[in-house]
Amino acid sequence: MALGEFELIERYFTRPTARAVLGIGDDCALLAIAPGQQLATSTDLLVEGRHFLSTVAPERLGHKALAVNLSDLAACGARPLGFTLALALPAVDEAFLDGFSRGLFALAEAHGCELVGGDTTRGPLAIGITVYGEVPAGAALLRSGARPGDTVWVSGRLGDARLALEGFRGHVSLGEDFESLRVAMEEPQPRVALGLALRGVASAAIDVSDGLLGDLGHVLRRSGVGARIDADAVPRSARLAARPLAWQRVCTLAGGDDYELVFTAPPAAEDAVRRAGAAAGTAVTPIGRIEAEAGLRVVDARGEPLAEDWPSFDHFKS
Ligand code: ADP
Ligand code: MG
Repeated sequence: MALGEFELIERYFTRPTARAVLGIGDDCALLAIAPGQQLATSTDLLVEGRHFLSTVAPERLGHKALAVNLSDLAACGARPLGFTLALALPAVDEAFLDGFSRGLFALAEAHGCELVGGDTTRGPLAIGITVYGEVPAGAALLRSGARPGDTVWVSGRLGDARLALEGFRGHVSLGEDFESLRVAMEEPQPRVALGLALRGVASAAIDVSDGLLGDLGHVLRRSGVGARIDADAVPRSARLAARPLAWQRVCTLAGGDDYELVFTAPPAAEDAVRRAGAAAGTAVTPIGRIEAEAGLRVVDARGEPLAEDWPSFDHFKS
């Protein structure tokens, strides 16, 4: 590489560490874990064309690569500590590295999550991040804790990222909404503060990366329960609400790339859930109920069942 691997790491990725015992530069990084805490770790790999489009600004790509990992810590109620970065680059592009590292470190600093190491190689553009966080032993939010009678909640608003993606694909014309919608897709905000506030309150949680119903399905299977979801109660932006109802449903229920939290809590915990949302500055909305009967029942506001066969991606083409 023109710049040299080590100069590149030094210039774009080495920052003074505050929290880690040892950061970039040795064979291993060292992180201290406080007594009574468990280490939470998660990895996400982003590949060009599959997880992001080549048109994304490098700064936003840096943000998103870390955001999707922080979202996993959020879903477990873990506090971010640090992360490692594996980077494959087709060439040394300093404009790219400058923007990418700025977006990455802006989000890292906002969450007190330090870059402590990684690996750099030439290859098709791909970004692998592993995050580390801590959570008091036994307090992590899991997918397996939902119980019949629990309320199903979701944070923020769903569907804008999918609507933006369909705009990119040329399946819908978004006009003046395009730029603001693309921010939802390219700069998701991981709900770390909400995840922390939900410890001891939520019975189960997951982050919405592949679409609400699909991700909620993981919670239901792991918990051995089912659920009834009110499709019309799922919160959406005014921009999405102005689109035809069929689009709203696909984008909110099966959209993907939302990085909101869907979680469950007993009805008696409603006030505690609302306080957690207020403390985190994130809207929380009840959208349904956990039931003993397995499977997912999706109804409209009148309680009428909606077709099980979700209008899938292909319907946009017709
Ligand atoms: P090793 O050969 O021992 O794996 P490297 O020569 O690959 O070490 O990396 C040197 C140092 O730079 C290590 O501390 C490594 O963690 C760090 N590093 C390499 N690439 C990155 C990167 N993309 N981001 C952050 N740190 C990196
Ligand atoms: Mg290496």
